[in-house]
Amino acid sequence: MPKDCLFCKIISGEIPSTEVYRDEEIFAFEDINPAAPTHILVIPIKHIQDISSATIEDQETMGKLLLVANKIAEDKGLTKDGFRYVINTGAYGGQTVFHLHLHILGGRSLGWPPG
Ligand code: 5GP
Ligand code: ZN
Repeated sequence: MPKDCLFCKIISGEIPSTEVYRDEEIFAFEDINPAAPTHILVIPIKHIQDISSATIEDQETMGKLLLVANKIAEDKGLTKDGFRYVINTGAYGGQTVFHLHLHILGGRSLGWPPG
């Protein structure tokens, strides 16, 4: 793992977080600065810089990431009214932490298109 990766440090527990889900491949935790009443980040345990860097080797993990996100959305009661998944990528995408993460946003109506 890259020594200076914030999310690798969150996975290892070196930096505390509010854990929502963990298994051998996927970790999920509350966003520290929530943009919606429910704002959870779902990440692969393996350090992958961004979604563009995922390879065929990561195919199963990426599928699992989405299915874990679905389970969390269900458990948090978001499926009835709807919710949004976001994967910011690179500078124009607004990515600020370079460990691939999927945002789950829900609990209020979300605007579109993004600013
Ligand atoms: P990005 O802008 O890269 O798509 O999203 C990074 C997200 O990580 C932001 O929503 C930000 O609030 C969240 N974040 C940044 N630092 C921390 C932290 O130390 N702990 C937690 N739980 N979330 C963080
Ligand atoms: Zn990392």
